[in-house]
Amino acid sequence: MRVVTTAWDAFLADELARRDDAGLLRTLRPLERDGCWVVAEGGRRLLDLSSNDYLGLSCHPTVVDAAARAARRRSGATASRLIVGTDGRYAALEEKLADFQGTEAALVFGSGYLANVGAISCLVGPEDAVLSDSLNHASIIDGCRLSRAAIHRYEHRDLDQLEAMLRRAEQAGARRKLIVTETVFSMSGDVAPLAEIVELKERYGAALLVDEAHADGVFGPRGEGYAHKLGVAEQVDLHLGTFGKAFGAYGAYVAGSSLWIDYLTNAARSFVFTTSLPPAVIGAVDAALEVIRDADGLRATLLENAARFRSRLQALGLVTCIRPPTVPRRTARLRFSVTALHGRADLDRALEAIELTIVNTAAR
Ligand SMILES: *Cc1c(COP(=O)(O)O)cnc(C)c1O
Repeated sequence: MRVVTTAWDAFLADELARRDDAGLLRTLRPLERDGCWVVAEGGRRLLDLSSNDYLGLSCHPTVVDAAARAARRRSGATASRLIVGTDGRYAALEEKLADFQGTEAALVFGSGYLANVGAISCLVGPEDAVLSDSLNHASIIDGCRLSRAAIHRYEHRDLDQLEAMLRRAEQAGARRKLIVTETVFSMSGDVAPLAEIVELKERYGAALLVDEAHADGVFGPRGEGYAHKLGVAEQVDLHLGTFGKAFGAYGAYVAGSSLWIDYLTNAARSFVFTTSLPPAVIGAVDAALEVIRDADGLRATLLENAARFRSRLQALGLVTCIRPPTVPRRTARLRFSVTALHGRADLDRALEAIELTIVNTAAR
């Protein structure tokens, strides 16, 4: 045990001990990856049911080759986007992303976290209101806080409450109103009532930013996301997608009209004040986008795997999504991320292990 020497050391050690006592201390566990398997310390091979590599593109030969080829040109972008960090490949990728989303323009950010924090905090300010689903991602929450706008946090998917809050914001004289929601929610596995939210945003003159982190590449006729699947993409002001999930790489983008994107280019601090993504990442993303537009087969496998896994879990008596007020807030849950890389036999083995655990737990 280290000797605690300063007030800082005492504070840090106490905080860690508090987490440890609550069983919440987190540590990093190095492991090797092999398709949908991981090799943990000690050589144990484990089935990966936790990654966001929905289409398996992180190890797709076309994507990996594109990254390697781009990496040979230069290892880093050497500057931020607005200085000398935008080469022709960047511009071409942004054009392709805009075309993919059916918008006038798109802007690549360093990550989804940076995109949410930067976009939200420059779109609204202290005289404005931001309306945010209670299960929205931490990057949305942080963007809202950084904006210093009045934050109206509505219960998950609760349209009545959203409408009441829009009305309240209007009565309070909010200058601008911004609604922010994920489309496919990562922690509950359900989806936002997007068609209804679009209706509300139009009725109350609000803007709408949708975070499609878990839907990009997966839903929509060519993987454009959930708004496209529902046919409401044109009513969405800003579409946000990340490259760290179904794209199998890293980074993110925001798509919208030229006016909105020009504004973000000038005002989003997490875009302006950070180094441009390296060529290897842009190469991978560019190749991944090509694969995604043509990935009907992978999407079908993914959705089939997910549907089958879900129905087998339900047959085991595991209800996959129990949410407040059915259960108290902050309830722990088990999350399985199924991907197109999983084979039927892989998932069957996982289900057998889950069943065995249930039987053993019940017998105890
Ligand atoms: C993962 C995630 C992000 C962050 O994206 P990164 O590219 O990993 O920084 C943002 N929003 C949602 C909903 C996410 O699930």
